[in-house]
Amino acid sequence: MSQTHYRVIIIGSGPAGYTAAIYAARAGLSPLVIAGYASGGQLMTTTDVENYPGFPEGIDGPELMKYFRAQAARFDSLIIDKDVTQVDFSERPFKIQAGNDAYTADAVIVSTGAQAKTLGMKGEKEYWGRGVSTCATCDGAFFKNKVVAVVGGGDTAAEEALYLSRIASKVFLVHRREAFRASHIMVERMRTNPNIEFFLNYVVDEIKGNENGVTSMALKSTQDESERDVPVSAVFEAIGHAPTTELFKGQLEMHENGYLKVVPGTTETNVPGVFAAGDVQDHVYRQAVTAAGTGCMAAIALERFLNE
Ligand code: NDP
Repeated sequence: MSQTHYRVIIIGSGPAGYTAAIYAARAGLSPLVIAGYASGGQLMTTTDVENYPGFPEGIDGPELMKYFRAQAARFDSLIIDKDVTQVDFSERPFKIQAGNDAYTADAVIVSTGAQAKTLGMKGEKEYWGRGVSTCATCDGAFFKNKVVAVVGGGDTAAEEALYLSRIASKVFLVHRREAFRASHIMVERMRTNPNIEFFLNYVVDEIKGNENGVTSMALKSTQDESERDVPVSAVFEAIGHAPTTELFKGQLEMHENGYLKVVPGTTETNVPGVFAAGDVQDHVYRQAVTAAGTGCMAAIALERFLNE
């Protein structure tokens, strides 16, 4: 087992983690970024990002993250694609375990982000990866010219439905009420898309299938409990996200919903020297640009902390 000390360790590699790395590296702190096996964060599962400033024509999520990573690597930061398995923030230097490798750090930035929530209905586990998915960009291509469904009423659901409408022969958007959380422009794009059909006031009660994968979904009305079976080849769940904070239970203070607590207006957690940036501490805005912004804040705050 190796043990290595770094002044700064950044856990996570979405817009927050890589931005923190760019700032910390340019400040001469030579950070280690423990990026995770699935590095890049949620934008890796997004298609068109139209609201990240600097790209007037929009940019593909994975391509944007490739640029983030290249910019972090250009300066003096070491990026390793491992998952952190344990942390001990009870004393400095802080201890971080990634599989068999042990690290210590004088200061840490936590930017582990959030991940897609799942519905947990009957059949979900059985058909996971065989028609049930939380990522249209990853799995949509398997359902070319097939009928698919997207569940949810937020921007993620709208984005997934619009993306799938270019691949599938038909997309059913299943949402449990009539009003959408998604932005007006996204709802209008869905409404005017001839390939998208709404099932409003319905939830998916069960996913059915056979040895080849999903064959249909059982919908239940949220108004009168009536049921209907709709043939589909895939169901994409797009019902929001939960923060990746399991690792920090008992170490860092959290809100009831699991997001890390920071001193308002800062990236300081309850442990001096441990900072939190990005979606892991933001259940309100959750945007790539705000994540990058707090990554920058965390690196600047950390530099000041180390200088004191
Ligand atoms: P949201 O929390 O905004 O939406 C989740 C949706 O899923 C809601 O419509 C909710 O229904 C529904 N839902 C939640 N739980 C269940 C359940 N158990 N059964 C059925 N339906 C359920 O999450 P998003 O991931 O869509 O968006 C998160 C944030 O990211 C937002 O701020 C969004 O604007 C942003 N975003 C922006 C994008 C862009 O601008 N390109 C792309 C994607 C996301 P209900 O409304 O009834 O609560």
